[in-house]
Amino acid sequence: YAHQAGDNTYVFYEKEIKANYLSNLKLETELRSALEKNELSLNYQPQVEIDTAEIIATEALLRWNNAELGKVNPDQFIPVAERTDLIIPIGNWVLEEAIKQNKKWQSISRHPLAVSVNLSPIQLKKTDLPQMIAELLKKYEMPAELLEIEITEGILVDNMEGISSQLEKIKTLGVKVAIDDFGMGYSSLKYLRNLNFDKLKIDREFIKDYPEKDNGNIAKMMINLAEQMDLKVIAEGVETAEQLLFLKENNCRVIQGYYFYKPLSVDEFEKLMAKTVSQSAFQMISQEKD
Ligand code: C2E
Ligand code: MG
Ligand code: MG
Ligand code: MG
Repeated sequence: YAHQAGDNTYVFYEKEIKANYLSNLKLETELRSALEKNELSLNYQPQVEIDTAEIIATEALLRWNNAELGKVNPDQFIPVAERTDLIIPIGNWVLEEAIKQNKKWQSISRHPLAVSVNLSPIQLKKTDLPQMIAELLKKYEMPAELLEIEITEGILVDNMEGISSQLEKIKTLGVKVAIDDFGMGYSSLKYLRNLNFDKLKIDREFIKDYPEKDNGNIAKMMINLAEQMDLKVIAEGVETAEQLLFLKENNCRVIQGYYFYKPLSVDEFEKLMAKTVSQSAFQMISQEKD
């Protein structure tokens, strides 16, 4: 019996591996034409200052809606894009789209609104990102301080010095740099020491189970660490009032999470802003739209 079960298991795994392989291949094929078919778009998730409930920035989040595959999750297709270097044209598109959109939004926001863009280490390694960012900021007349880039160590970074010098050039432009998903990589602290970040994003992992299965000590430690290193701090994935209060009491001033807003389409975000802007600004926009 054991032998038979073993064989079945083997067949099962072989089938599964094959199915995975085929579906990754399909993803890759479809992803190659996603840009030209206009299948990519950006959602924007507001980042909120706790004390004022004011939206101070948004994070641009990539969305892919494919004719055959439907909506594909970024956690599924970003790794494929990175493995195939498709992340380079896609990442360039994201950057330009986010800057263009954010520039438009300056007029409908009460305060200067920043935009945060996720970058893959591949883009930093293989393209002249500082040059490209400089050109985009100029083209869209966007103040550099309103752009932030987020880096994770999701992919093994073998060339820390190269990355470090690229980041320095980007920072020289005035662009802010955040370490994303902090605490999830296997060398987060090493990155924090060796790279010169402006902001630390606490991963949802250290927020989501508070207070039931997590006493919040690690989140607290991260907030203190950020303070010690003179970094700004933002907590991701805040879903409940309890979590919000906990963060507020522990000096985390900005959060991003479903508690306030989910990632929003351009339309949804504009409707939201229209509700919150002053009357005069609102009239200006309605006139523009007529
Ligand atoms: P991320 O940069 O850490 O983005 C935050 C993710 O957490 C987003 O998932 C967002 O929808 C989700 N999230 C935010 N608040 C909550 C919450 O309260 N509860 C829960 N359950 N989730 C929340 P999303 O949009 O699926 O993106 C997943 C990841 O894909 C991103 O994680 C980022 O690493 C990557 N990604 C997205 N867009 C891009 C892009 O343009 N370029 C690159 N290189 N990576 C991207
Ligand atoms: Mg991010
Ligand atoms: Mg994150
Ligand atoms: Mg993430």
